[in-house]
Amino acid sequence: MTEPADAQSRRAIAPVICYPTDTLPQPDMALYRRALATARAGESVTALPREAASIRVPAGSFLRISCPDGPQVGDLNLFNAADLTERFYSGKTRALHGTHVTQGHRLWSSFPYLRPMATIVADSLVWYGKDAFGGSVHDVIGTRCDPYTGRLLSGADYHHCCHSNLTRALSDATGLPLAEAESHVHDVLNVFMCTGFTRDTGQYFMKASPVRAGDHLDLFAEIDLLAVLSACPGGDCSAQHSSDAAACYPLGMQVLTPAPGALAGWVPPQVNGYDRSHGT
Ligand SMILES: [Zn+2]
Repeated sequence: MTEPADAQSRRAIAPVICYPTDTLPQPDMALYRRALATARAGESVTALPREAASIRVPAGSFLRISCPDGPQVGDLNLFNAADLTERFYSGKTRALHGTHVTQGHRLWSSFPYLRPMATIVADSLVWYGKDAFGGSVHDVIGTRCDPYTGRLLSGADYHHCCHSNLTRALSDATGLPLAEAESHVHDVLNVFMCTGFTRDTGQYFMKASPVRAGDHLDLFAEIDLLAVLSACPGGDCSAQHSSDAAACYPLGMQVLTPAPGALAGWVPPQVNGYDRSHGT
């Protein structure tokens, strides 16, 4: 195909943001930060290397995801604790906030709910920004490593991909049979993972995560949450995933409960107001 005469001028058209966020209800970050400063440590769980763990996080408390040991990325699923059909919507979160999320961004739920499930209040890796390759941390691009893509690409079966880890942990947390639990596992927030798109081919890339022992990501639970986190078999995702080759470390999840009264003025978000008539 030959280029049209006006090809350059078509390419030169400036982009517009698909979803300007200036009309989004803004979280009161100062209130959340003050509440976090008062919070006491509660229940905690550990996702062992190449395994997943789950924890329930009451609305109005915080979930701290921590890297206690060595560089490790995690694949996070979030559910409404009372209704698994309301779950984290990575694609819409990406459309609203961009390819990577950090403090001030919110994690949105699936249709027809589409409300903030959680708000990121503190991110010890916020300093990373965007690197020279276009990479950044905590992406909502990737889906999760899984045995189906592994089978497709290599012909081999690997059972400790994040998809399988999340499936087992959700089954354990809910008592659902494995196959039913699997149907609820969804595209993740890649916590601590450093990723981007290559400039030439537009392919999804990963690189060694800048996360180190002591780093953490603190989420405010806007609704009652069931959080499930897999310590990815890719470790720091510097080389490969979907195998036992990488050095892997545990990840922590802990509930932090603010002092009574610390959230005065906070109102939990309602489900989306669309009437669902769809033009009928
Ligand atoms: Zn993974």
